[in-house]
Amino acid sequence: KKYYNMVEDMKKIRVFCRIRPVSRTEVAQDQDEAIVVKKIDDFSVTVETSRGQREFQFDKVFSAAASQEDLFHDTHLIQSALDGYNVCIFAYGQTGSGKTFTMVGDKEQKNLGIMPRSFNAIFDFIQENSSKFDFKVSAYMLELYNDRLQDLFVSPAGEAHAQAQSHGQARRVEIKRNKKGVVFAQGAETKEASSTQELYALFQQACANRHISATMNLESSRSHLIVGIMVESRNLTNGSVSTGKLSLVDLAGSERAAKTGAKDHQLKSLQEANSINKSLSALGDVISALSAELPHVPYRNSKLTQYATRVKAITNNAQRNVDSKEIAQLKEVIMKLRSGQTVEE
Ligand code: ADP
Ligand code: MG
Repeated sequence: KKYYNMVEDMKKIRVFCRIRPVSRTEVAQDQDEAIVVKKIDDFSVTVETSRGQREFQFDKVFSAAASQEDLFHDTHLIQSALDGYNVCIFAYGQTGSGKTFTMVGDKEQKNLGIMPRSFNAIFDFIQENSSKFDFKVSAYMLELYNDRLQDLFVSPAGEAHAQAQSHGQARRVEIKRNKKGVVFAQGAETKEASSTQELYALFQQACANRHISATMNLESSRSHLIVGIMVESRNLTNGSVSTGKLSLVDLAGSERAAKTGAKDHQLKSLQEANSINKSLSALGDVISALSAELPHVPYRNSKLTQYATRVKAITNNAQRNVDSKEIAQLKEVIMKLRSGQTVEE
């Protein structure tokens, strides 16, 4: 029951697939390694793999023809944060797959991505609702690079100054947990913004302070950009206050995940000895990663978590006449895992 409920809860997670256009150089290079897409529709993508064709399901699929505007509009990404919920949006994929383009935009700032569009949408919403609510918007912006979390509101020059004055590492941020178990970033400065322009200026300042510019592909592929925006609203009639938080993350390239260190490797082989344990701990990892708002959620570590994402697609597809047998099958799988049995693919 517990695990089934957890899976049910995952309906809160939505997974979109965006296919990016093939670039001019790629056309010229005749890419052998490119994934061959056999078929796409609004909710699934079928690709050719070495072991035949495989179909993947999503809450929505965006073809190479989809614009930044289409993507932002059709995913309804930020409404929940404005309604007082915590929302995290991240782009996952290998280097070159279009994460930065999608989250931030292009170098020329012609095709703005989800981050700047969200800033705009937040202040549009605030303007529309300013007769009923008082709003306060604040943000922190961090970079996770080489396992170090750094405050992007502090410039590298500021860092050098702090070190010279023996103030320690001004940019360094530590992940802490408070008495209530809430995870937070200690040492991260939070700045207020009162307009789209102000928030965008903070964002540009943060990008300038990155180790490596966000659009310089090779290097930025090794760091995560984490933007947290808090929207506090006070109801002018009854004085009640609610705070929503939007986390926007441009992740490092997923190809890094494959290169595991020796320690990880040992841990892995131990886990592999017990596939049930592995699946359940992977499920736990996904759930705790989500609740702790870590930038990486390890869905791919086990069959169970792969199933779980699938269930979500199925339940969301209920109105689209998806076979309810599949849901029943999944429940069975979860019950088996719980009682310690192994499960076939
Ligand atoms: P990643 O951040 O995943 O490493 P990028 O976002 O830097 O990948 O994308 C790689 C290249 O492809 C960049 O030159 C980017 O401008 C381009 N690109 C990515 N997605 C699109 C798209 N949907 N339309 C046009 N160009 C894109
Ligand atoms: Mg990138």
